[in-house]
Amino acid sequence: MVNFILSLIRSALLRLSVRWQRSSGVRRLELWDLKINDKGHLAVQGMDAVELVSKFDSPLLVVNKEKLMTDVEALKSAFARAPEGSRILYSYKTNCVPGILKAMHEVGLGAEVISPYELWLAVKLGVPGEMILYNGVDKSDESLELAVRIGVFCINIDHVGEIERIRSIAERVGSKANVGVRLALSARSQFGLDIESGEALDACKRILALPQSFDLRCIHVHLTSNAKDASTHRGFATRALRFARDLKSSTGYCIPYLDLGGGFGVPTTKNMTGAEYGIYRLFGVLPRPPRLEEAQHVAEFMRDLVDAVEQTCGELQIDVPRLIIEPGRLATSRAEFLLARVHAIKERDNGPLFAITDAGRLSLTFPCDFEYHEVFVAGRPTAALDTLYDVTGRVCTSADWMFRNRLLPKLQAGDVLAVMDAGAYFSSYSTNFAFPRCAIVMVDAGNASVIRGAETFEHLTALDRY
Ligand SMILES: *Cc1c(COP(=O)(O)O)cnc(C)c1O
Repeated sequence: MVNFILSLIRSALLRLSVRWQRSSGVRRLELWDLKINDKGHLAVQGMDAVELVSKFDSPLLVVNKEKLMTDVEALKSAFARAPEGSRILYSYKTNCVPGILKAMHEVGLGAEVISPYELWLAVKLGVPGEMILYNGVDKSDESLELAVRIGVFCINIDHVGEIERIRSIAERVGSKANVGVRLALSARSQFGLDIESGEALDACKRILALPQSFDLRCIHVHLTSNAKDASTHRGFATRALRFARDLKSSTGYCIPYLDLGGGFGVPTTKNMTGAEYGIYRLFGVLPRPPRLEEAQHVAEFMRDLVDAVEQTCGELQIDVPRLIIEPGRLATSRAEFLLARVHAIKERDNGPLFAITDAGRLSLTFPCDFEYHEVFVAGRPTAALDTLYDVTGRVCTSADWMFRNRLLPKLQAGDVLAVMDAGAYFSSYSTNFAFPRCAIVMVDAGNASVIRGAETFEHLTALDRY
């Protein structure tokens, strides 16, 4: 009986999902500055996606440099509204590929790093200390020493124990540490210092009491992901600014910078809600695609946010701080896609149709687990969607799928799938579970060049001793 009811629910939901997928408003190639060439194939800056896979092998991550620059410039001009001295620091963990990071640094973005490795990389890429912000929960002593020595713009303190550690490192190095405090906006938050209990305010007072060791520069909030409009960030800003007012009234100190973190969304993907995720898990039913009209344009988003900060500062009678943002997804999401080849189709009389590909969530498409991503067949991107597939990966575990019940044109072995928006958290989360990691190419001015080579079998055992 229960099974019968569940199967009724499942088929009703599946019918709905099919309708949503078919009418998805994000099935528009211009959203990624992609085109169809005269062979009818997907093309990026005039380069045929199917040929890219023939040339560089599959799976393949493809970065569209022009789109990257378009999106970064749009962000820069939107943020130009922020007070003089504000900074845009790219979140390294979102897409930590040197060739991509370098392109963004060249046009003035700084680095937001969350690990000793990322800090090391930012320095290696030539990012000046003043444009590096060090976040994270596990900062090694060596990395803190490096951060103090090169005078990074700010080290954001996540837990109180860091105060004493950084103090003694600053003393040893003989320079002041520029620090900030990450605020936890709820007592259950995993990150930062609690506001309610007074933990965050006490930490600021301790820091201010040690002016020979510290320069307290900033308060930091980061909580959300893929926010479609400015409302969530406006709320965070208000909470943080109230804290700044309390800090000022109890110590007289005006915090010069407000760091609003990342979490800025893109129109082309969406994070599943808890219910959508549960339904996807339970029934294999893909949720509704993102709706373009829900996503605020970056210019409006930043205008709303900056205006709200200025207005709130007026109400609270505090100076308007300079702003820091740490965008990840917003800068790179749409500038990269994944090409994956269909290796076989497995037909079942009463079960799902399987499309076996060389990229599943256990190796490359982990974000497809909890986000909606659009997908095209690179050889015929506008073909009618008429067949439901469970698109699976290459690792022999039933957990390695890319999409379940995905509506696609009828597929055959050899087809190339283009999974859109692979520019946030795809390469970062990629693994070499049973297969080496794939290459990344960057297409720039009609040329494709490898910015990260494919791993070889030898790479996988290079550190083993046996
Ligand atoms: C991950 C992260 C970001 C970037 O988040 P996006 O959602 O990709 O914009 C920014 N700041 C911090 C502290 C982060 O952990």
